[in-house]
Amino acid sequence: PLPILAVVGRPNVGKSTLVNRILGRREAVVEDVPGVTRDRVSYDADWAGRAFTLVDTGGWDPDARGLAQRIAAQAEIAVTLADAVMFVVDATIGITDHDEEVVKVLRRSGKPIVLAANKVDDMRAEAEAAGLWNLGLGEPHVVSALHGRGSGDLLDAVLAAL
Ligand code: GDP
Ligand code: MG
Repeated sequence: PLPILAVVGRPNVGKSTLVNRILGRREAVVEDVPGVTRDRVSYDADWAGRAFTLVDTGGWDPDARGLAQRIAAQAEIAVTLADAVMFVVDATIGITDHDEEVVKVLRRSGKPIVLAANKVDDMRAEAEAAGLWNLGLGEPHVVSALHGRGSGDLLDAVLAAL
């Protein structure tokens, strides 16, 4: 079986856009409204000659109730089944209490975590992304899923973790 990378993070941070960027095709559903990806969806991906399974998830809110809780449960399952986790944050928003909750759960999983600081479309956003070192997950890999900026370096880090 191929190594598995789970992509997790709050709704609307650009997880599905990033998944499409990695796949090189528009397969994951991207929406302007949060919470569109509700299940775990697996894709065959490869980078630099290495094949892996990429799992897109819905938004992860550990305090969620109702439907949101079921979406979060799917994200948690995805982490459990993964060999490594890509934690995506919106660098233009920065760290929220919610992100810190998710980081605690991710740490408990014991899985290698690669931090993707998404929506860094320009230099100004890059400066904001520096604050993400405070999450304690190492280097925030700055990326613009929309424009493709930084995605090569991010994937190199992912392969090193898988
Ligand atoms: P998800 O809920 O985390 O899967 O987020 P989506 O991939 O559905 O994206 C949510 C919104 O953010 C969409 O409107 C995307 O076009 C937008 N988005 C995603 N990546 C970027 C990025 O790198 N820069 C900017 N400016 N917007 C982005
Ligand atoms: Mg999505």
